Amino acid sequence: MNDLFLKIIKGEIPSEKIYEDDKTYAFLDINPNNPGHTLVIPKESSRNIFDIKEEDWQALMETVRKLAPSIKEAMQADGINIHMNNEPAAFQEVFHTHIHIIPRFKDDGFKPFGGTPYKEGEEKRVGEKIRSIIAP
Ligand code: AMP
Repeated sequence: MNDLFLKIIKGEIPSEKIYEDDKTYAFLDINPNNPGHTLVIPKESSRNIFDIKEEDWQALMETVRKLAPSIKEAMQADGINIHMNNEPAAFQEVFHTHIHIIPRFKDDGFKPFGGTPYKEGEEKRVGEKIRSIIAP
C-alpha cells in the first residue's frame, strides 16, 4: 500500500519532526491552516478511526495531550483545535490515521465547523438511532 505517512516515519520522505516515541510520530503539516499546525500519527499503519487498534489510539491521544500545550505556548496561540478527518466524505486525503493539532488565534478567520439547527423532532430521532447502534 502506498502509505505516504509511513514513508515519513521511515525517513524516506522528509518532514519537520517535532516529536517521536515508540508508538507515535508528530511533524508539521506542509500546508498549515496556521503556523505550527501539526499532524500526530501512529507508527503502526491504520486507515483512520474505523480500523485503528485500541492501543495505538490510546498512544495517539496521549501524544496529542502531551503536545497541544507546548504547541500553544510555542506559537503563542490563543487556542488549539484538535481535528480528525475520516474517509473522503469527511475530507480525508491521506489514508494513514492522523490527528491535526491546529493553533488558533483570535479572529484568524479559520472556520472548521459550521452548523444548522435540527428541524423539529429530528434531534431526538438522530439520538435514538445512534444509541441503538452503540453496544451496551
Ligand atoms: P487530511 O485531509 O486530514 O487527510 O489531511 C492530510 C494532511 O496532510 C493535509 O493537511 C496535508 O497538508 C498534509 N500533508 C500531505 N503531505 C504531507 C507531507 N509530505 N508532509 C506534511 N504534511 C503533509
